[in-house]
Amino acid sequence: MKCSECNNTGIRTVECNNHDVVYTEDCYCVQWEEREKEELAIKMANVFTNKISKEKLALTLAILTVEKHTDMVSRQALESVVEKEEAAYLLNWAIL
Ligand SMILES: [Zn+2]
Repeated sequence: MKCSECNNTGIRTVECNNHDVVYTEDCYCVQWEEREKEELAIKMANVFTNKISKEKLALTLAILTVEKHTDMVSRQALESVVEKEEAAYLLNWAIL
């Protein structure tokens, strides 16, 4: 289905009558999609919190992270971060 505001470009043009200027911003459809994704993620996090152990979550995240970074350089970098136990930095690798 085509968005009538942005024609599926994700960018809509806004005409500001008072100031006689035109600017662009993320279309409503993009904003709506982002909001839906955020709400889904929050609901999913709640299910994980209530139903899955911390250990199982950690292992799943670790597997996903290793699978995502398959090249040798990344793997060596990951090894080094693991040895230093830099958890916050490891989390960045998971979402990179
Ligand atoms: Zn749109």
